[in-house]
Amino acid sequence: MNVYQGATEEELRRFQQKANEKYEKYQAENLNLNMARGKPCPEQLDLSNGLYNDIKTLIDENGTDCRNYGGVEGLPETRKLFADLLNVKVEELIIGGNSSLNIMYDNLARAFNHGVDEKSTPWSKLEKVKFLCPSPGYDRHFAICELFGIEMINIPMQNNGPDMDRIEELVKEDESIKGIWCVPKYSNPTGVVYTDEVVNRLAAMETKANDFRIFWDNAYIVHHLTDNPPRLKNILHACREYKNPDRVYIYVSTSKITFAGAGLGVFASSKKNIDYIVSLISKQTIGPNKINQLLHTRFFKTVDGILEHMKKHAAIIKPKFDLVLEIMEKELADKNIARWSNPKGGYFINLDVMEGCAGRVVQLAKEAGVTLTKAGATYPYGKDPADTNIRIAPTLPPIKELEKAINIVTVCIEKATLDKILK
Ligand code: PMP
Repeated sequence: MNVYQGATEEELRRFQQKANEKYEKYQAENLNLNMARGKPCPEQLDLSNGLYNDIKTLIDENGTDCRNYGGVEGLPETRKLFADLLNVKVEELIIGGNSSLNIMYDNLARAFNHGVDEKSTPWSKLEKVKFLCPSPGYDRHFAICELFGIEMINIPMQNNGPDMDRIEELVKEDESIKGIWCVPKYSNPTGVVYTDEVVNRLAAMETKANDFRIFWDNAYIVHHLTDNPPRLKNILHACREYKNPDRVYIYVSTSKITFAGAGLGVFASSKKNIDYIVSLISKQTIGPNKINQLLHTRFFKTVDGILEHMKKHAAIIKPKFDLVLEIMEKELADKNIARWSNPKGGYFINLDVMEGCAGRVVQLAKEAGVTLTKAGATYPYGKDPADTNIRIAPTLPPIKELEKAINIVTVCIEKATLDKILK
């Protein structure tokens, strides 16, 4: 029950009047604050400036001159570092360019043009291709599907991962369902970490399509906000265990570890899938940027090096998450007009407002100088069926701006809720 239920119309109008006054005051400040995307802030980027400290020689451990062509799979020492991080074998992983999203896109394009292996039909030859889209989810996954004409099926996200009953039921019957998008750790935007049971069921489920693929986007694999992070079951091992060894495509990147525009994208899968995909990539490029791979490997050296570095990120961004939570708690908790996540990692706070109000909140915020992620963006086709979900990205703005922006958002929530009730 929220604070406005049971109030008389006169009381509600008084609340509305107050919210309007607060809102108009903020509007008069002519602010320009942006919280639309989960970008690292400059202080976080500064943590990795040391990447370029050691560039006297660009020859790797095996004597490869990284300035030259070659090495489609990536440098052996870089593959080893990330294989250790993901707990897979070196031959089950390759290093790409700077963007994991780019590898996801290319893998879809390869599936459309050539099929997922030598024997499978290219998806472009099929009448229909569908993907399961746990939602709210990552808007750029959905944007790729839209571009490729893939029909998206909305799957509700729950506290332990996507609704597995629904997924199992669908994939068993429909051969045109070729894949699913998963952000299994600190999911964008809900912050959910998939439980072992969910991982096992995804690995084990019976699919009508033999060429079904899980796009396992582990973008926030080491992006912890607590000292005692939850663990995620290794899906490549689970797929092998359940006799579907080629089912999963795993992605990670250093975009939010080192530089978002100049990091490393990484792809892991079964050796069979890796060999096939490398055979196709080798037609596309003579090799990736090995200099960047070398510098990253020298900078981190070991998985512990990566984990230590991530603690420095947490020290910068955790206070921003705490501030957002504190303001929302103070301004909204007793009113009971919104719910939000308290994530243990990742880049987002997931905010749900009263049904039918998310779009209005985002619009009101915009008119008061605060840009949020577009309402609906976290759902396929940009349509949130209940119009409740808002993604809060606290990392980029300086703390003072963030404080102002979130206070404005809370007023917008009050105003949108009251306007809706009094309509
Ligand atoms: N996947 C998810 C879930 C993300 O949130 C992001 C960044 N916002 C990306 C992928 C982008 O990764 P990259 O920079 O490696 O392309």
